[in-house]
Amino acid sequence: MRSYEQSAALLARAQNALAGGVSSEFRKYNHPHAIFYSHAEGTRIYDVDGNEYLDFTLSQGPLLVGHNHPHVTKRVDDYARLGQLYAGQHILEVELAEKLQQLIPSAELMRFCLDGSEAVQTAFRLARAKTGKAKFLRFEGHYHGWLDNVAWGLSMPSVDALGSPEHPNVFPWTAGLPDRVSDEFITLPWNNLDLLRQTVAAHHHELAAIITEPVMCNNGCILPQPGFLESIRDLCTTYDITCIFDEVITGFRVGLGGAQAHFNVVPDLSIFAKAMASGYPISAIVGKRAWMDLITTAKVIHAGTMNSSNSTVAAALGTIEVLEQPGVYDHIYQLGGQLMDGLRAIGRHYNQNLLVQGMGPMLHTGFTDLKQVNDFRDVQAYDKVKLGRFVAGLHDEGIRIIGRGLWYLSAVHTTGDIDMALRVADRVMSKLDS
Ligand code: PLP
Repeated sequence: MRSYEQSAALLARAQNALAGGVSSEFRKYNHPHAIFYSHAEGTRIYDVDGNEYLDFTLSQGPLLVGHNHPHVTKRVDDYARLGQLYAGQHILEVELAEKLQQLIPSAELMRFCLDGSEAVQTAFRLARAKTGKAKFLRFEGHYHGWLDNVAWGLSMPSVDALGSPEHPNVFPWTAGLPDRVSDEFITLPWNNLDLLRQTVAAHHHELAAIITEPVMCNNGCILPQPGFLESIRDLCTTYDITCIFDEVITGFRVGLGGAQAHFNVVPDLSIFAKAMASGYPISAIVGKRAWMDLITTAKVIHAGTMNSSNSTVAAALGTIEVLEQPGVYDHIYQLGGQLMDGLRAIGRHYNQNLLVQGMGPMLHTGFTDLKQVNDFRDVQAYDKVKLGRFVAGLHDEGIRIIGRGLWYLSAVHTTGDIDMALRVADRVMSKLDS
């Protein structure tokens, strides 16, 4: 049995200085409590108690080329040596912008920000300014950051609390939200095209934007129904609504051009963050000129002291250079497929109601009698207690996945890593009901 004593001691100390002992809410919910790490390399991460983990968390997604990739680290070291922040422009950010223009279908122009939450808000501002309308339509279970107008509906007491699909209830995720902020958006279940069509027909006069994760990765790992993204795109064109893809997870992870290239649906604006820069704080709001030129002309203001610092831009270029090597994505998809097939076989072998859904670069494991999970309402049917036991069992045997059942793959995972993960998953599953 692994010991987490040093982490527990550090957590107790941290709680006197850091609120809750952590720097982001989600880090509280590790097993058996917030864990303190000492170092990481490739697919392995080590905690302060000396425990080694094969990492499928990848820092909640960003580490698509693994921890501490030598090419990325060298790129960062070389460029940060020249200074870090100039309150002015530098050559590498132009090179990065040109690279994103080549790779991402909707990236006619862009601006760099620090994280996904901030870039989402920039997209809303652009959408309002472009359309002259105020509200955005969002989908249940999609996460668009932690700021006021998107911090809703993220934890629901029960499936009944969700209300009717036509008029879902949304609960604030946090205290401290202004009342009026819930008037900024309309919420709908995802993957329900009829409902989307009806709602947009009724509300288009007030809708500035529809925002979606192109793959619903923050609750399950749910693919869009065939035609769903295309229909969002068409409705937006028909009714002068801005189509926003939140590619914070899918960007670079599903392919170099993001989900928009993978599914061949081009939004007006999209947000890239996590996997773009191997954990360095940079995001991009990219989009069509008709929207982004509002920033060019300073009708819409976008700013930030820390934007496009040397190390973050160098990290992004270094990451993309690694991802552009031949065969990288084939490798990631092949390993993801091997992992999904293996997990499904283990579930069948132990007669467990394990459902594995995903795309390869990211996948979800949950326990449910449903044959397919299609939206946030279906997600409520997952057996959270059993999942908790599965995740904790994996963790105690050195396999680290995200607590809600999500696994991220990277370019540096190997077939040996997948074999190891499957061996452990088999052992954990064999004891799951005991
Ligand atoms: N959008 C999506 C789809 C996300 O998954 C996240 C974070 O997990 C965000 C936005 C917010 O990004 P950040 O945590 O970088 O602010």
